Amino acid sequence: MRTADIRSRFLDHFAARGHTVVPSAPLPTPDPTLLFVNAGMVPFKPYLTGELAAPWPRAASVQKCVRTLDIEEVGRTTRHGSFFQMNGNFSFGDYFKREAIEHAWELSTTPLSGGGFGLDPGRIWVTVHHTDAEARAIWRQVSGLPERRIVDRGDEDNFWSMGVPGPCGPCSELYYDRGPALGREGGPEVDEDRYMEFWNLVFMQYERGEGTGKTGYPILGELPRRNIDTGMGLERMATLLQGVDNLYEIDETRPVLDRAAELAGVRYGADAESDVRLRVVADHVRTALMLLADGTVPGNEGGGYVLRRVLRRAVRSMRQLGFHDPALPELLPVARDCMAASYPEVAESYPRILDRAGGEEEAFRATLRQGTTVLDTAVAEVKRSGSRSLPGAQAFLLHDTYGFPIDLTLEMAAEQGVEVDREGFTALMTAQRERARADARAHKAGGGADTAALRTVLDAEGPTDWRAWETLTTDS
Ligand code: ATP
Ligand code: MG
Ligand code: MG
Ligand code: MG
Repeated sequence: MRTADIRSRFLDHFAARGHTVVPSAPLPTPDPTLLFVNAGMVPFKPYLTGELAAPWPRAASVQKCVRTLDIEEVGRTTRHGSFFQMNGNFSFGDYFKREAIEHAWELSTTPLSGGGFGLDPGRIWVTVHHTDAEARAIWRQVSGLPERRIVDRGDEDNFWSMGVPGPCGPCSELYYDRGPALGREGGPEVDEDRYMEFWNLVFMQYERGEGTGKTGYPILGELPRRNIDTGMGLERMATLLQGVDNLYEIDETRPVLDRAAELAGVRYGADAESDVRLRVVADHVRTALMLLADGTVPGNEGGGYVLRRVLRRAVRSMRQLGFHDPALPELLPVARDCMAASYPEVAESYPRILDRAGGEEEAFRATLRQGTTVLDTAVAEVKRSGSRSLPGAQAFLLHDTYGFPIDLTLEMAAEQGVEVDREGFTALMTAQRERARADARAHKAGGGADTAALRTVLDAEGPTDWRAWETLTTDS
C-alpha cells in the first residue's frame, strides 16, 4: 500500500468514527519552545491545556513533523526520519482510554480488505505505564494479548507531560515484531529496531504542578476533562506494510535513494557505510524539500540553520559517495514526485524550492572548494606530528577565513580520525568577540559613526551557526 493511501485510509477511518479531519499545520511553528512542529498534538496544545475550547470533540490529522534530535539517528537506525508524518486521533474531553485502545487495535488489525492495516495480532506487543493497571486490563479485554506481550514501563518512556504545569498522564505504545532477521528476541525492552514502535497513545488524565524533569513535579489531581492524543508514525506503518527493512526504503524515499546511488555509481546494499550515506541523502533531501515548501529559508540560526545543515549534509554525503557535481537539482525533483500525491503544494512551489536549494548548494560548494585543502593539510600535519587533535587555532582559521562552521570541521576531521580542540577554538572565538566589542566601544567613545566598527561586530557575531545546533534545538 502506498504511503499516500495509508494516510488517507487513516483519515477516512477516523472521519467515519466522528472525527473532524484537520489539515496539517505548516512545519515552522509560532510555539516559542520549538523550532518546528515535532508531533501531531502541537497545533492542538491550546485545546489540550484548556486555554481554548476545542471546536470539535474529536479530531484526526496527519501532521508534518521535523525532529531535530533525531537527525543524528538518520540512516543508522531503521526507523528515524528527520522529517516524518504523524497520524493522530484526538479526543478533547470526549472518549478516553478504552475507546482510544479500541480504535488503535481495530485499525491496526482489521484486514486490509476490511479497511484496516491488517497487522498480524500475534506480532503486536504493547507497553503501559507500570501504575496503569486500567490500561493493562483494557488491553487484555480488547486484544486478548497475553500478559507477556503487555510490558510495564516507567516514567522515562511511558509518562507524558508538556514540561510545564498542566495536563499529563500515562502512555501506551504499540510495537510490531519484525522478526529475527532484524534483531534479538525479547520484546521492545530488548530491541527497538526489531520490535518497532508504530503508535503511541497518550492518556491525559492528571494535572501536574511546577517542577522540572520527568518526575520532579507533583501530581495535583485528576483533570476535569480528560483528553486523548495519539501518534502513529506514517512512515513506520508504510515500512511494515511495504515489507521493507527501514523507513528510507518506502515509496516516498526509495526513489531518491536509488537516484543518488545511480548518480554516484554505487550499489545500495554493497557497503554499510555508503548505505548509511544513501539513506541520509534520501531522508535529508525530502526534509529540505518539505521545509522549503513551508517557507523556511536557509540561514545561520534557528530553523534556517537546521535547513542549511540538512542541505549541506545531503550534498556532502553525495560527495563522499563520489558524486561531485551539483546534486540537489538531480535529487529534489525525485523527492517532489514522491511527495506531490499527498502535498500538491510541493509541486506548485517547486521552482522557488529549487532556486533556494540550488543557491545554497552553490554557496556551500564554494566554501568547500576554499576550505577543504586547508583542512586536509592541517589534518595531515596533525597526524604526522603524532597528535590526534587539530589545534583550536586551525579550526578558528577555517571558520574565520574560510567560512567553515565548526561542526563541518568537526565532522570532516572525525572522518579522518582526528579530534578538534574545541576549548581552544571557543576561547579564540570569545577573544575575537571581546576585541570587536572593545573596538565598537572605542569608536562610540570617539563619537564617530564609523561603519567599519559595525562590520567588525558583524564579522565577529555573525557566524554563530556552530552554536545554534546545540543550543537552539529544544524539541525532542
Ligand atoms: P522512538 O522511541 O522510536 O524514537 P518515540 O517514542 O520518540 O519513537 P513518539 O514521540 O511516541 O515517538 O511519536 C509517536 C510516533 O511517531 C511513534 O510511535 C512513531 O511511530 C513515530 N515517530 C516518532 N519519531 C519518528 C521519527 N524520527 N521518524 C519516523 N517516525 C517517528
Ligand atoms: Mg524518539
Ligand atoms: Mg519510544
Ligand atoms: Mg513513543
